[in-house]
Amino acid sequence: MVAKKNPLAHYRKKRSFKKTTEPRGTIKKKKAKQPLFVVQEHHASHLHYDFRIEIDGVLKSWAIPKGITSDPSIKHLAVLTENHPMEYAHFEGIIPKGEYGGGTVMVWDIGTYENIKEVDGKILPMDKCFAKGRIEIVLNGKKLKGGYALIKTQRSETGENYWLFLKMRDKYAKRKIPSITRSALTGRTIKQIAQEGKTYED
Ligand code: MN
Repeated sequence: MVAKKNPLAHYRKKRSFKKTTEPRGTIKKKKAKQPLFVVQEHHASHLHYDFRIEIDGVLKSWAIPKGITSDPSIKHLAVLTENHPMEYAHFEGIIPKGEYGGGTVMVWDIGTYENIKEVDGKILPMDKCFAKGRIEIVLNGKKLKGGYALIKTQRSETGENYWLFLKMRDKYAKRKIPSITRSALTGRTIKQIAQEGKTYED
């Protein structure tokens, strides 16, 4: 029998935990009644937003270069990246220059989500939604509310993990997304996070 691969192996391999303050992390065993989502604004070599949702004790993660929209007519590219540990949802600070993902990270939004994907009138478990490449969830965050979908694209078959991220049509569609410049966790601006991070490095 082949041992089941550690779902955080890829995450840990990419990072040197002696250099970065990112968590090494653990895999959550207990199934969450109210699973978590987080969006992190990440000022790396290219600014992007990392969208992460709790599935099977880890955070499944996508990088969305164009960020989050509330307009259902707009589809944004979301590139699947490595699983992150649950602890990462509260990570805000600086990843040192030269390290993987080097740059400032802000918790742009955080909250819980509800799986609404039904097949034959029954909710399809999230691990199956992920495997099928079709995720439909309702977000209850500080900034983001309502239905969002993640749909794996045909291009994924070429080996690239391309998905589309889009707002579903509901009463939250097209609502203005408030205050994109402050942390949902600490109220800090990206500038403050960057400056405070620097003082720790000294
Ligand atoms: Mn990132």
